[in-house]
Amino acid sequence: LLSSDSDASVCPLVFETLDRVNEDGKKIRRKCTNCNTRISSNKSRKDARKLGKQTYTYCGNCPGQPQMCRECFESIHNK
Ligand SMILES: [Zn+2]
Ligand SMILES: [Zn+2]
Repeated sequence: LLSSDSDASVCPLVFETLDRVNEDGKKIRRKCTNCNTRISSNKSRKDARKLGKQTYTYCGNCPGQPQMCRECFESIHNK
């Protein structure tokens, strides 16, 4: 099934996430943008903060290079 309202086509279907690092080379852990959006659409902001998955990885191919856990990467890019 192809969905026309998805922007997944801009990303190659490979697991090419990278650890996000700061200028010192230290890993930066942030909440997965996709998990956070999904949770906060169903839950309060407080719950979203509690439940949001923290990840070091992001997708360098997606627009805006969003922080992204592996599960979300796979579900977004393998549609
Ligand atoms: Zn996620
Ligand atoms: Zn991507």
